Amino acid sequence: MEQGRGTWGIPVWGLPLAGPLGRLPERADVLVVGGGITGVSLCRWLGPQAVLVEADRLGAGASGRNAGFLSAGVGHCYANAVRRYGRQQAAALQDFTATTHRLLAEALAGRARGYRQRGSRLVPVDPEEAQDLEESAQLLREDGFEARWDGRQLIRPGDGELDPLEVVRVLAADLPPGTIREGVRVERVEAGTEGVRVQAGGQECLAGAVVLATNAYTPRLLPGIRISPVRAQMAAAPAPDGLVPLPTGSDRGFRYWRQRTDGLVLVGGYRNLALEEEVGYEAVPTARVQAHLDRHLRQLGVTEPANHRWAGIMGFTADELPLVGPVADAPGMWVCGGYTGHGMAFAFHCARLVAEALAGSRPPTCFPDFFPGLKGRDSRSAHPPSG
Ligand SMILES: Cc1cc2nc3c(=O)[nH]c(=O)nc-3n(C[C@H](O)[C@H](O)[C@H](O)COP(=O)(O)OP(=O)(O)OC[C@H]3O[C@@H](n4cnc5c(N)ncnc54)[C@H](O)[C@@H]3O)c2cc1C
Repeated sequence: MEQGRGTWGIPVWGLPLAGPLGRLPERADVLVVGGGITGVSLCRWLGPQAVLVEADRLGAGASGRNAGFLSAGVGHCYANAVRRYGRQQAAALQDFTATTHRLLAEALAGRARGYRQRGSRLVPVDPEEAQDLEESAQLLREDGFEARWDGRQLIRPGDGELDPLEVVRVLAADLPPGTIREGVRVERVEAGTEGVRVQAGGQECLAGAVVLATNAYTPRLLPGIRISPVRAQMAAAPAPDGLVPLPTGSDRGFRYWRQRTDGLVLVGGYRNLALEEEVGYEAVPTARVQAHLDRHLRQLGVTEPANHRWAGIMGFTADELPLVGPVADAPGMWVCGGYTGHGMAFAFHCARLVAEALAGSRPPTCFPDFFPGLKGRDSRSAHPPSG
């Protein structure tokens, strides 16, 4: 593998800002654990009753390490989602993620320089994928969504792209002072009759409710939660402007690339060629996957070596749908995560559902109840035991 200039392990978005460290509050109406896109979104929807604690810095997890695709839909294409979840549910999920995009763009209000809505494209690697994408375009149009197949690729004009760390910072900047407490690693959460007891660094907090916005890290606090840590890797290299026309996905979601306005081409994926290695909590790039990313950059026509290589940890669920809702047998405890590699498309809207349920303006339901009849889901999988 070519050893590029620059940094090994540092995302192209930069490192989270180091500010003063915080403390666990003694009491909180709602304590949000985790300072990624989910945590800051929850605080935005919850209002001044929320306090957020983050083990590291805001955006230190997957939210500061992702590719920045803001793409509607679940899974790798709409035809696949229809087969897997049913037509009506696939349409509802498509609509849900399109709404995430609209709500997020409204909240950013032109303040995120990295945000653009130019659309995206899906490029097939074989005839079977081409057939799926052509069918997806037709199904999407029939269901009222914008999409077209031009014989080579599926174009989705509504999709967006962003600098994910910038988005976390912009949302966080709107929160009341004192909401965010960085450097507070929660060690224990325990639901009881008076509320949820939370312990961190020798301090204790009694919270009316706790929302775990810890995505892949959630089972470390509640081992019964069925979210699995899966690693994704990326590389970036400088290139002449206009090399990559649109944010692009391919090989059933296992490859993705886009170009920023400063010319940097970002390439990610290839996890499918090292499935057994790309699991767990080590957010470090590996030579094996990085070699595939290098080859991909060359194939795109990038001649400069990569100057950023990094990895992050995603939270996967068995049915690839978010795990959002109250935790069974643990009054006051909630989970909001498990986006299976699509958190930018889900988190802001999922956070709103949780905030509304906590405020009593919607029943304390979980994600599948919002989409009646979702295939392969029952209330047990969405309300996992905390044991
Ligand atoms: C390389 C890569 C590319 C991706 N590309 C895309 C993409 O293009 N589009 C897309 O939609 N999604 C993408 N994703 C997925 C997306 O990044 C995630 O779904 C999303 O960021 C999850 O956000 P989150 O806030 O739930 O979790 P995270 O951002 O992981 O945040 C969880 C936070 O919890 C904190 N934490 C953990 N344990 C504790 C504790 N005990 N106490 C206190 N704090 C704790 C962590 O430090 C972390 O900051 C990608 C992911 C990766 C890794």
